[in-house]
Amino acid sequence: MLQLYMPLHFLGFVYREIKHSLADMEKMFSLLAENEEIKDDPDAFDLVVADAGIRFERVNFNYEPSRQILFNISFDIPPGRNVAVVGHSGSGKSTLARLLFRFYDTTSGRILINSQDIKNVTQKSLRAAIGIVPQDSVLFNDSIYYNIVYGRPEATQDEVIAAAKAAHIHDFIESLPDKYDTTVGERGLKLSGGEKQRVAIARAILKNPKILVFDEATSALDSKSEKAIQTELKRIAANRTTLTIAHRLSTIVEADEILVMDKGHIVERGIHRQLLAANGAYAHMWELQQRQEQIGLRLTDDIGQK
Ligand code: ADP
Ligand code: MG
Repeated sequence: MLQLYMPLHFLGFVYREIKHSLADMEKMFSLLAENEEIKDDPDAFDLVVADAGIRFERVNFNYEPSRQILFNISFDIPPGRNVAVVGHSGSGKSTLARLLFRFYDTTSGRILINSQDIKNVTQKSLRAAIGIVPQDSVLFNDSIYYNIVYGRPEATQDEVIAAAKAAHIHDFIESLPDKYDTTVGERGLKLSGGEKQRVAIARAILKNPKILVFDEATSALDSKSEKAIQTELKRIAANRTTLTIAHRLSTIVEADEILVMDKGHIVERGIHRQLLAANGAYAHMWELQQRQEQIGLRLTDDIGQK
């Protein structure tokens, strides 16, 4: 147990996350395996996020030395702005989010928040500053209330409900047998991918962080729910430094900068209009998705008429 306790002790954030689901041994070990290398610098200080600009500076990264995943990635997100990342699956988008959260350290290059290298700050302060809506949210085997309030444990019940409403999950929760006390997760009520995403969105809204990361945050929702929640996400992202990893390009047309990734490289960058005019990878993806959406709409029309 001592052996277990020691690494847990270093991992305040992860520890809290798994403390409430100690039965989830498998998940715990996978989290530990991912994080055991990352330790606070002995001189680590708390991140100051007054002006939370983000800078990736010539970042290279590999999970395993034999295969480089990110190549010389540089970009800036000025305080309060939104940078979007698009690209095929496997191109390294989620890895950017994991590095920003410091689940891993860069192989070379730096990541700065408000001019502070994230390697020099405490992980606790770093993670407190960032709200992530991940691609695949994992819920704790606990009440749905706990799963939301975890975003900010000192929040009031009214605040939790307001966050659930903003994430369009309140009515669903009210329809459950024990409402907010319903146990969810692997050993409780199993929620659909879209419901889990809404819980994660509610958690991030409640956390009210300076920095937001949406990693395909609405990918499991049908397009109608996605539109409704996108409006909400836009509202909470206003004036917050935001990194949006998008699977649907129509959700990021207003981004301050769009990075197009391919095999770990940024192959195009600019705002929507510029990228369309450039008629490259982005313009092709855009055209393809527009066509798919039109086909989708026509299909729904057909079904509606029957
Ligand atoms: P994206 O989000 O763009 O789909 P990811 O950043 O998740 O891509 O992954 C980029 C590449 O890194 C992929 O080839 C993936 O297989 C690899 N990868 C992701 N996580 C790990 C890991 N923990 N260990 C080794 N390789 C990984
Ligand atoms: Mg991803």
